[in-house]
Amino acid sequence: MRRLALDGTCSCGAVQFSVEDQFLYAGYCHCSRCRRSSGSAFSAFAGIQKEKLQVTSGEANLSTFARNDDNVRSSCKVCGSFLFAVVRNAEFVHVPLGTLVDEPSIRPMFHIFVGSKALWHEITDALPQFAELPPPESLDRGGPQASDSTSMGSASRSTGSTAAEVPDLRPRLDREGE
Ligand SMILES: [Zn+2]
Ligand SMILES: [Zn+2]
Repeated sequence: MRRLALDGTCSCGAVQFSVEDQFLYAGYCHCSRCRRSSGSAFSAFAGIQKEKLQVTSGEANLSTFARNDDNVRSSCKVCGSFLFAVVRNAEFVHVPLGTLVDEPSIRPMFHIFVGSKALWHEITDALPQFAELPPPESLDRGGPQASDSTSMGSASRSTGSTAAEVPDLRPRLDREGE
C-alpha cells in the first residue's frame, strides 16, 4: 500500500522533509531560471498546499532565495540542493521531484516554458507542451487520483482536493516559470 506521506531530502541529508502524497499537479519547467538553478535541461516539480509539507530535520540548515515576490526558494546551505519553493501567495509549495526519497503517486502532466527551452534538449514524450504557462482550462488532472473537481484556488486548501486545471499559475508566475 502506498504511503500517505513522502520523505524528501537534500543530497547531503542535512535537511529532510515530509510531504503528503497529494500533489495537485506536476510538470517540467524549461524556463531559463529553472535551467540555471537545476543545472539541467529543465526542472521536474510538483505543487501542493504549503501546509502539507513539513521540514522534519535540519530546518536551521535551510537558506532562502526570493526569485521574485511570489517564489521563495529554500535550499540546503550545506550542499546547495534546492528543496522547495513557496509560491502562489505563499499558499502552495513547488517541490522538485528529484528530492523525493519515496515515489509520488503523481506523474508529470505537462511541459511549460517550452518556448525558452534549451536548444540542445529534445522533448521526446507526448505530454502537452506550452510555450509559457498553460491556458487555465487546458489541463485536466484526471486519472485515478482525481477525487473531486475543486479548482486550485483558495477553496482547494481543504484536504483531498484535486486540480481540475492549472489556472492560478499564470498571474503569479508570468514570465518567471516555475
Ligand atoms: Zn544538504
Ligand atoms: Zn521554470
